[in-house]
Amino acid sequence: EQKNHGETEFLQAVKEVAETVIPFIEDNPHYQNQMLLERMVEPERIITFRVTWLDDEGKTQVNRGYRVQFNSAIGPYKGGLRFHPTVNLSILKFLGFEQVFKNSLTTLPLGGGKGGADFDPKGKSDNEVMRFCQSFMTELQRHIGKDTDVPAGDIGVGAREVGFLFGQYKRLENQFNGILTGKGMSYGGSLIRPEATGYGNIYFAQNMLKTKSETLEGKTALISGSGNVAQYAAEKAIELGVKVLTMSDSQGYMIDREGIDKEKLEFIKDLKNNKRGRIKEYTEKYTHAEFHEGIVPWMEKADLAFPCATQNELTEEHANTLVKNNIMLVGEGANMPCTAEAIEVFKKAKVLFSPGKASNAGGVATSGLEMTQNAMRYGWTSEEVDKKLKDIMKDIHEACVKYGKTEDGYVDYVKGANIAGFVKVADAMLAQGAV
Ligand code: NDP
Repeated sequence: EQKNHGETEFLQAVKEVAETVIPFIEDNPHYQNQMLLERMVEPERIITFRVTWLDDEGKTQVNRGYRVQFNSAIGPYKGGLRFHPTVNLSILKFLGFEQVFKNSLTTLPLGGGKGGADFDPKGKSDNEVMRFCQSFMTELQRHIGKDTDVPAGDIGVGAREVGFLFGQYKRLENQFNGILTGKGMSYGGSLIRPEATGYGNIYFAQNMLKTKSETLEGKTALISGSGNVAQYAAEKAIELGVKVLTMSDSQGYMIDREGIDKEKLEFIKDLKNNKRGRIKEYTEKYTHAEFHEGIVPWMEKADLAFPCATQNELTEEHANTLVKNNIMLVGEGANMPCTAEAIEVFKKAKVLFSPGKASNAGGVATSGLEMTQNAMRYGWTSEEVDKKLKDIMKDIHEACVKYGKTEDGYVDYVKGANIAGFVKVADAMLAQGAV
């Protein structure tokens, strides 16, 4: 805590992992006296840099850019870029640390990293976003490479931003390679990558429900967020017979008690992705729906909850309400959306609970598949990628059960994911010596 003073989110993420991994190390002499966890909490490299760009009025603007290269024991650093005014080192270190374990769980050779900037794409013109991305990449390009570090999108970095970043990288390096994932289909992207995090979260929920001989069909669900992860979690859930009741953004949430169907979801996608509007506008078109300002949807009743917006959006109080309302499953789509206290509430009530590092790993896994396709200069069909994604989510679920099953049969997916993620990275670090 002293070393990382004030880095609240990072300390929260480390504590959650340490609580489950330290007892495991104590039971396994093989992993002792190697400073493994101590090494794992220290990023291999942190880069911060100035990003200067010109706004539409010709005025100079300045932001801070980052790349946290956390761990490369099992593969090149891999993890998204976040553009949001709240971005700081604590948030990127928490995300990078989580990413190491998540990437290990995917079964693919991917190390962990994360980056971004305190830039807010909201309210900026396309040209401003482009100039920012070009300036950001002008510095970042010296630190990344297809076998060194392969960034991707995250909050505030979608198809538009990845395109601008890739264009600038190619211009500077004179190389067309898989330096970024989440690319558009016309320039090396993978089918199913946009869908993968949301779809993967729902596939993971299917696997969890199977352990209780249950299915998704006929269940009701609360989803938060209305960005990339939330949209595709909703899409897959609807396809599998779930009645999705809510979606949200940073202004509040809307509830449609008749259920958000495919057509309504298309309206949301167009609203958020093309018009860059607010979720509130849903209630202007579908007037039976309600909008609740400034809050999250967790006080509503449903069978399933998928928090897909941002960190710490679901608190102990929300968790208590969800449990009181008989929530059956909580699947994290965002990174660390549930506070540590909320997770305790779910565990105590034996709710099926999956941490983001397991249930949102489908995105980075499919990014890994995009890297493979780029290296082969070949593209798989969407059926092929979707099948691989399903298999990976099933494997991650099995790994969680292997290390997380408790004596009474309850699966502690947090423990399972942390230990399974740890083992692969730790083994590689041991083999590579004190580096
Ligand atoms: P997007 O930018 O596409 O969407 C983010 C959504 O969350 C928006 O609806 C946004 O609302 C809302 N949101 C963001 N910040 C806040 C906040 N501080 N308070 C309330 N709402 C907020 O991002 P993604 O969907 O890609 O990412 C969502 C989460 O999933 C993040 O935690 C991310 O790290 C995680 N994740 C994403 C992956 C991916 O493949 N994209 C992979 C794995 C994890 P608004 O529109 O108002 O900004």
